[in-house]
Amino acid sequence: VRKAIIAGNWKMNKTRPEAKELLEAIKPLVANAEGKVEVIACVPFTNLETAINATAGSNVKIGAENVHFEKSGAFTGEISADMLVELGVEYVVIGHSERRQYFGETDETVNKRTKAALAAGLKPIVCVGELLWERECNITEEVIARQVKLDFFGVSAEDVKKSVIAYEPVWAIGTGKTATADQAEEVCAFIRATLAKIYDEATAEAVTIQYGGSMNAKNCAELLSKENVDGGLIGGASLKAADFNTIVQAA
Ligand code: 13P
Repeated sequence: VRKAIIAGNWKMNKTRPEAKELLEAIKPLVANAEGKVEVIACVPFTNLETAINATAGSNVKIGAENVHFEKSGAFTGEISADMLVELGVEYVVIGHSERRQYFGETDETVNKRTKAALAAGLKPIVCVGELLWERECNITEEVIARQVKLDFFGVSAEDVKKSVIAYEPVWAIGTGKTATADQAEEVCAFIRATLAKIYDEATAEAVTIQYGGSMNAKNCAELLSKENVDGGLIGGASLKAADFNTIVQAA
């Protein structure tokens, strides 16, 4: 049985005092989910140390929102996987659609980051998802298959099992427009079938696949009830302790 994983993606929000306040509010609410749901907050680099200290001894795990693929060197402004591991970071979001859209992220760099994260002992949350026009052109499955194949190219079965895949239809992110539960299930099941083709059935069954895109306290139960939707990657609603907790409790 796959463990449900609910992760907040804070994006470019919260100063350190604000981060501490939000995590202090989340911690007691989600404490009862320990052992049942993996609860993660992915926060800006500047908040990582504060977040790790604030959640020490709790069941809230901390993730970063990106990582560079080189070990070290002349890469001004970048952060390595080893730097994150040394802080106590456990997860990292890779290939978010905002990075693909605004910061030149490609499947090739997603693949490099995923491999670097895994090599350093970080668990990648790799984001895939189609654009609105791709869905309208009926090429959603082609787009998703391509992303899954390229993003995990050369990643072993053992390593892919440590990874999380987030299905985030780009048209549903921050738009208030959620995929229906059936649409989410259809693509999450397709991702699993694609993994089964690349690896094998058992490996595909072991990978946690999240849905992300305007998931909130109201629509989470239906989305999370679907067989292949093992969790959520939550933007806006993860910035409100009560809403985030409602989603954790629904998982
Ligand atoms: P929203 O929940 O704000 O739509 O963001 C989803 C997302 O991008 C999570 O990574």
